[in-house]
Amino acid sequence: MAKIVRALSEDGGAFAAAIDAADMVNELIRIHGLNVSAAAHLGKLALACSLMGSLMKNSGDKLTLSVNSGGTLGSLLAESDYMGNVRAKADNPHAFEEPLVTGSGTFHSIKDIGLKVPHSAQVPLQSPDIADNVMAYYILSEQIPTFCAFQLSFEGGKAVYAGGYIVQALPPVSKEVIKQIEVNAAVPVALGTNAEQLALAALAGMNANLLDSWDCFVHCSCSAEHTIDMLAALPKPDLEALFVDGENIEVCCDFCGKRYVFNSEQAKKLISLE
Ligand SMILES: [Zn+2]
Repeated sequence: MAKIVRALSEDGGAFAAAIDAADMVNELIRIHGLNVSAAAHLGKLALACSLMGSLMKNSGDKLTLSVNSGGTLGSLLAESDYMGNVRAKADNPHAFEEPLVTGSGTFHSIKDIGLKVPHSAQVPLQSPDIADNVMAYYILSEQIPTFCAFQLSFEGGKAVYAGGYIVQALPPVSKEVIKQIEVNAAVPVALGTNAEQLALAALAGMNANLLDSWDCFVHCSCSAEHTIDMLAALPKPDLEALFVDGENIEVCCDFCGKRYVFNSEQAKKLISLE
């Protein structure tokens, strides 16, 4: 479980969303067997995706963030709904001390809010820190002045703290608001700071009021129905190669590890092979 808190400055010129999510990171560690290095990167991406997802408005909206690290960490992927529930995975959950490589890696966002074509944008990695790349994405792709920071701490392979925030200047953007946000953002996220404190700290000096708060989770949207749809979309030769009469077909979800087992006859029938 994680907690999201949102706040607004008194004059409506700045908005902040903050998250306190050590349990969320530990759930990702449990699912994927992440080492601390991979957990630090995937954890930050999951926190960013959760907060960015919570900025969407409707229940069917979906945000996907992917990072090609440019190094042995490979690709990181996170998906969120509008409540900030996330699922995430890493190509290499055991990559050790591998930073994101600026210059060769990419940060990619796909926002599906029910339009004909989802909004997709990709920016080159600007920094080894996920937060810097989120800020670059908002400025380059959405032209929204945005600051964010994430802080994670680990002990014995588990997250003992994971928190962060996103703060945005709202139109009409004032220079004074940007200046105050920059002053606030210069203060690093202190370990142990809860979501409410983070949201108010991001808007310090602006008489901020808390708007709302709620719990969110690591949640995977996979299902037997989705798995069948995925199988049915495979090219026929690949499908036929999967089916050996009398043997079960097992499909494992990359995001949550859940296994879906179909017996051969059931699977053939379900995907209309016969
Ligand atoms: Zn799943």
